[in-house]
Formats: sequence, C-alpha cells, structure tokens
Amino acid sequence: MLVKDILAAGAGEQELVVSGWVRTKRDMKSLVFVEVNDGSCFAGIQCTFDKGRGLGSGTERELARLTSGASVEIRGRLVPSPASGQKVELAAEELTLIGGADAETYPLQKKRHSLEFLREIAHLRARTNTFGSVARVRSRLALAVHRFFEENGFFFIHTPVITANDAEGAGAMFQVTTLDIPELARTGTPPDWNRDFFGKRCYLTVSGQLEAETYACALSRVYTFGPTFRAENSNTTRHLAEFWMIEPEMAFTGLPGLAALAEDFLKYLFRDALEKSADDLDFFDRRVQKGVIENLQNVVKSKFTHITYTDAVNELQKSKAAKEAFEFKPYWGCDLQTEHEKYLTEKIADGPVIVTDYPKEIKAFYMKQNDDDKTVRAMDVLVPRLGEIIGGSQREDDLEKLGVRMKELGMNTADYTWYMDLRRYGGVPHSGFGLGFERLVQYVTGMANIRDVIPYPRSRQRV
Ligand code: ATP
Ligand code: MN
Repeated sequence: MLVKDILAAGAGEQELVVSGWVRTKRDMKSLVFVEVNDGSCFAGIQCTFDKGRGLGSGTERELARLTSGASVEIRGRLVPSPASGQKVELAAEELTLIGGADAETYPLQKKRHSLEFLREIAHLRARTNTFGSVARVRSRLALAVHRFFEENGFFFIHTPVITANDAEGAGAMFQVTTLDIPELARTGTPPDWNRDFFGKRCYLTVSGQLEAETYACALSRVYTFGPTFRAENSNTTRHLAEFWMIEPEMAFTGLPGLAALAEDFLKYLFRDALEKSADDLDFFDRRVQKGVIENLQNVVKSKFTHITYTDAVNELQKSKAAKEAFEFKPYWGCDLQTEHEKYLTEKIADGPVIVTDYPKEIKAFYMKQNDDDKTVRAMDVLVPRLGEIIGGSQREDDLEKLGVRMKELGMNTADYTWYMDLRRYGGVPHSGFGLGFERLVQYVTGMANIRDVIPYPRSRQRV
C-alpha cells in the first residue's frame, strides 16, 4: 500500500505493510520511532517499535543498524497516534531491511542541504522534501494542462523534435548531424550537408508553433506539449537549454481571444494546484517562498491588466525607478527586461499584466502586423515575481504581407511554401502562445532557480 492511501484510510487496527525509505530514526528508551517516506505524498508515516512488548530477534537486529536512506518493509497495525501532528501511526511489529544506506557515505543525512549541493547529486535529490514536492507538483500540473485543453476542445499534436526550419526566430539552435565534424576539421574538409543524415542542415526545435499552425488550420484548436531546445548563452535562473513548452494554437481567433485563453488557462492551473497539491504547496509556503499560496489565490481572483507596449514603456519612463533603480533605461523599441516586467506587475498593476502590440523589430516574422506599420499583434503575459511566463501572438494571415516581411528579414521563402500554403488555401485569423512549463512550475512552487524544477537541468556547461 502507498503511504498516501494508508494515511487516507484512517486507523482501524488493520494490519498492513509499509514500504519506503527511512527518513529518520529516533531511539527512545524502549521505543524506536522510524519515519518512512515513499514519495507518494508529502507526509511520511511514523512506525513505532515497542521493544518492551518484545520484537523478533531479526527485527531487533535490523532496527539497531537501520540508517537514514535505507529501504524497508515494515509490517504492523495502523493505530491512532498519540503524538501531535499526525492522526495515525504504525504500531510496528516486523522490520525487513531491504537495502542499507551506509551512514558514512550516504550524502543525504538529516541536516538541511543547500540547493546548490543537491544539484550536484541530482540522482538522489528527489528523496528530499523539496524535490519530492517539486516532482509531484510538476506531474499534477502536466496532467492539468492536458485536462484543460481536453475540456476546451483542443487536440494534442505531437510536433517534431528535429526540424529543418532554421528561422523560427525564437533563439539560437542546436544542430543535429551525423557527420564526423572532428574528422572533417582534422582534414580541413568543409562539411557537405547534402551528405548529412537528412541531406540538409537540421536542428533541435525551438518551438512547435509553425507545425501546430498547420494542424490548427485543420482541427481548429490544437496544442503541443513537448521538449524544446535553445542554445541560450545567458546564465539566468529562468532559462534552460532544454525545457518543455506548451503551445496552444486556435483558428478563427484574434489577440483578444488568445489573451482570454491565457488568463483562463493560468487560473485553471493555479486553482488545480491549490486544490490537488495542497500539502506540497503548504511546504513551499512554509519553507521555500513565504506567501506563494496567497500569490496563487490572488491571481485566481484577479482580473489581468491589459496594456499596450507603447503605454507600458511610457509608464516605465515616467516611473521613479526609471530615474534611479533600473539598470536598463526603457525606451520605445527596447525589449522589456525582467526588471521592467517586474515593475509593471508588482508596482503598476499589482497583479498579472498582458502587454500587447510590440514593435515588429523585436518580434518574430510570423506575427500579424498592425496598420501603424510599426507594431505587431504580439502579447506577453507577465506575472509578479517572475516576469514573462507566456509569449504569443496573432499570426500574419495575409500572404502578401508575410512574404514581404520574410524577404525583409532575409528569409528564403522557398523553404516556407508549406507555411505560406496555410494562407494560400483557406487561410483564417489564428493565434497561439507558448508557456514555458518550467516557468509555470517555478511560479507555482516559488522555487527561485529553474534548474530546480526539472529533474535533470541542462544549461551552458552543464549536462
Ligand atoms: P525570455 O524573454 O524570457 O527569454 P522568450 O521571449 O525567448 O523568453 P518565447 O520565445 O516567447 O520566449 O517562448 C515562449 C515561452 O517559453 C516563454 O514565455 C517562456 O515561458 C518560455 N521560455 C523561453 N525560453 C526559455 C528557456 N530558455 N528556458 C525555459 N523557458 C523558456
Ligand atoms: Mn517572449
């Protein structure tokens, strides 16, 4: 039985077996308390051995050498607990040590460890409270994502990881090749991409959007949820080289519809986490980031503030911070920096903000151009504490404008006939956004560093 089911069952003197890993052992005179956690929920179960009542000699012997980290099976009866802080405990009768954990070398002793230290032992860190909670919250959020889309008529599309599109515009790409590059370099031969595996240069995807658009223009509402890769050089607490992205795409929908979707989506996910991950969130609130629960509740209750990029820049320039605190002075045409995004959400709006209509020069080729010739129908959703969590846009559905923009940017339109076909045949207004899944997990848990919300983080010089 899983600990979560045992704790939910309630004490009825029933006999059962607990399986898990020892967190702590406390030796009182005749009582030995062993806290066992199996990861199925935040709480462990206390197993109390009463030596006074006589334990088998095998159990006595194993109990004496039991250490933190060991795996065990403990048979006993589930009884009401006299201790505070837990309703039930196991009146333990028989202990089987399955796998020992040498106290001299096992790295996770009882003391608190720094997150930096735990990153060095990523293969063991899931056994700590923090990383167990992150893993459970992450899993539940992923399911909630699928549930939200299922309930709203979206289909899950599996877009490719390997792509030949080199101009998705979202960031530097990792190349995929089977050519022996070191050997070519040694002999001074320039690589012949025609002889590469796919007969052309290929990359790991930075976004499933373009392919998702093709399916949205057939199934109306679709989404992707998969790994994406960016050769980000920046060493920040919000960027990974490999991360998971959720990208809905909706046909017959403009920017207002997309903004409404983003707001509904985030609220749905936060509500779901508050309800289904209450114990884990309670831990984050107490030990990781004070106020994280209230934060989520506030977003759920809030109405997102809408502001155009132009107005946002004006507000930022007017602000006191512009004169004093901003490291980067805002001006029309600049990409909003995290400090600006935080100011907008924390100081100006006191809640989530949707910024729309960005300068076309800082946005991708596929975004729908406004009549002012300067801005595009882009939107970023910013949240307090984190900054950008969602980036999206209405897509350019005017074939001619799209072609002109691509040429301006030096793109080879011949590589994109398939993409232009969506505008050539039965084109429709359509819109979509990308939500970085790790940013979402960061926001919900309050974890400060993105490397701590994915099991095995990949970033520059780290794999
Ligand atoms: P940022 O400005 O924060 O670098 P971006 O503008 O490059 O992000 P988009 O191309 O709009 O991001 O990607 C959509 C979403 O994917 C972002 O809103 C963010 O949630 C997430 N995201 C982007 N880059 C990364 C990354 N390197 N690691 C984790 N998540 C990311
Ligand atoms: Mn963005």
